[in-house]
Amino acid sequence: MSLKGRTAVVTGAGSGLGRACAVQLARDGAAVAVWDLNAEGAGETVRTIEAEGGRAVAYVGDAADRAAIEQTLARIRADLGPVLVLVNNAGITGFKPFLEITPEELERIYRINLMGPFFLTQAVIPDMLAAGWGRIVNISSSSAQTGAVGMAHYSSSKGGIIALTKTLAQEFAARGITVNNIPPGFIDTPMTRASPIDVDEIAAISPMKRAGQPEDIAAACSFLASEAAGYITGQTFGVNGGRVIY
Ligand code: NAP
Repeated sequence: MSLKGRTAVVTGAGSGLGRACAVQLARDGAAVAVWDLNAEGAGETVRTIEAEGGRAVAYVGDAADRAAIEQTLARIRADLGPVLVLVNNAGITGFKPFLEITPEELERIYRINLMGPFFLTQAVIPDMLAAGWGRIVNISSSSAQTGAVGMAHYSSSKGGIIALTKTLAQEFAARGITVNNIPPGFIDTPMTRASPIDVDEIAAISPMKRAGQPEDIAAACSFLASEAAGYITGQTFGVNGGRVIY
């Protein structure tokens, strides 16, 4: 699955799923822009990639800050070239009964989980159009497929990501750009460990009797970003150990 000569941007690549996706895309040959709020985490991802002989640069900042997106992208293009693979992974979660969610909490989650990917994709697609080739992988959530009690703000933001994926897939299908989403289901990451979810308990009752690992998502991301996945677009590519089956 060679991405040699191509540049990938992975947001939220300083931790969890984003880090695993960045490392795998670098193994596939891409030069990777590791974009994260967390400088330490982003640096660790870059060091991991470099130790394996890959190419990566850290960009520290808010991937959902519309005013800063173009500036960061200009630096990425200057350092690594036009962006042909985009993984919209950065996200935050939230747990609160529906009636207690404040407008501020809703706006924060929609800004980071939905509007950020919307604006970043708008900014990156011209590179893909110029090349006549592009791969966009959006990280959604199984909570958007099933609903999730106490997560109305989060699950609805991720439902928006699935709808955005389907729409962009159709708008750009004839121009060499594929757009797919991966809804993870309970992957063992710092986000999950910091949440009220008991990962080990859920693993015990899941079909495969184990929690997902970031590498499980990275494998799917790598495939969707590859040449081999060129006829796949608009899809919701579940990676959840059989917990959610449609
Ligand atoms: P994680 O371990 O918390 O990693 C997310 C990374 O993204 C963190 O380094 C975080 O930085 C960074 N980040 C957050 N907001 C950002 C922003 N606006 N700009 C740049 N970086 C930002 O989470 P994860 O479990 O890997 O989750 C990754 C994605 O998968 C999220 O979109 C999440 O909703 C989705 N997901 C995860 C699961 C799961 O089971 N883990 C399930 C469904 C969906 P800070 O730590 O500094 O905030």
